Amino acid sequence: MIVLVVNCGSSSLKYELFDGDESLSRGLAERVGINGGDDAILTHEYGEESIAKVRAPMPDHTVAFSYVVEVLTDSEHGQIESLQEIEAVGHRVVHGGEQFTESVLIDDEVIAAIEDFCELAPLHNPPNLEGIRACRQRLPDIPMVAVFDTAFHQTMPAHAFVYGLPYEMYRDHNIRRYGFHGTSHRYVAIEATQYLEEAGIPRDRQKIVICHLGNGASVTAVSGGCSVDCSLGFTPLEGLLMGTRSGDLDPAIPLHLIRAMDMDAAEVDQLLNTKSGLLGISGVSSDMRDIMQSARDGNTRAQLAVDIFCYRVRKYIGAYAAAMGGLDAVVFTAGIGENAPEIRRDCVQGLEFIGLHLDDASNNIVGDDQEVVVISTANSPGYILVIPTDEELMIARDTARVVADLAQ
Ligand code: ADP
Repeated sequence: MIVLVVNCGSSSLKYELFDGDESLSRGLAERVGINGGDDAILTHEYGEESIAKVRAPMPDHTVAFSYVVEVLTDSEHGQIESLQEIEAVGHRVVHGGEQFTESVLIDDEVIAAIEDFCELAPLHNPPNLEGIRACRQRLPDIPMVAVFDTAFHQTMPAHAFVYGLPYEMYRDHNIRRYGFHGTSHRYVAIEATQYLEEAGIPRDRQKIVICHLGNGASVTAVSGGCSVDCSLGFTPLEGLLMGTRSGDLDPAIPLHLIRAMDMDAAEVDQLLNTKSGLLGISGVSSDMRDIMQSARDGNTRAQLAVDIFCYRVRKYIGAYAAAMGGLDAVVFTAGIGENAPEIRRDCVQGLEFIGLHLDDASNNIVGDDQEVVVISTANSPGYILVIPTDEELMIARDTARVVADLAQ
């Protein structure tokens, strides 16, 4: 089945075209709607290393999507001859609240629900909706599926998702832990679960901690194949130190910033989401590669940022092992998790006491194209694995499944 996967951010439109599990092409429209979209650019990648670029005004996602359609069907750079070849579209949607526990076919009711959840994800759901509307307008007869970042975490028990606030805050105002990065965690959980089953650990007994370490970073506890806790919370601000986000902090700090430092809510929001984390501590960059280089050059604040990042990952691994009453495997994924052996080493340093023994040699030689790489020693009671994530493939698979179920 030919499936187009669409992921819209506030000023971007990311897409990937699949035939089954095979990726045919992928691309990104950037600076959509910024300054009227005058500086927008679409980069389309296909084949081994072929690239086509489209520079044109893209005032909104509908216009951006029309260029995506054009390049996908272009006689020189395109992979399909006509739009009719696209059999389904899968959309990434960040927030599905408590309503969506799995991927669903998009209809008017689903769109209304996604709209309702804009209040919970004001930065993410509105552009996701714009993408859905742009596609619907252009491809009105093609089935579309919504794949939610929060869905995988809906199996969390109440003791993991209710905060220590008056219970009415949850019951009447939907304030609870939702968890995010669910599509990535689910993809990696499926791969890890299968690997451990082949290694002789039955799925319903498996206890796995997945560390998604990218610009955004999160840890998920997966027991019996289901998410039972996630470091991201009511919003994607809680938990680990991230590129520009603070992660965990004393909830009284924002109040102190407002009362004693004269900041307003918008300034605090900006500080916590865009000026904190690796960037705020290092003062160098939000990008782990730059920070590691700076630390090697002797910058102590950059080193501190790395140390805090790894310390928090270690803390969460220990906490989730305790929460699940054991640990069969820790999995590293996403940009940092897949590519930075030094960070992986620091994240499991000292965790031999819960059965994690790193094999330095294999940790240092993880290649690109392997699906599951074991970096623990042969005698290690717990596995340490590296599994490259693929959110777009997960969305494409879900979309094909939901649409195939429809036909039955
Ligand atoms: P996003 O959350 O934007 O999808 P990614 O999963 O692409 O992020 O991860 C981006 C992060 O991965 C950046 O901090 C980048 O520096 C880091 N990264 C990528 N390659 C390496 C590497 N070889 N060593 C260290 N960090 C890396």
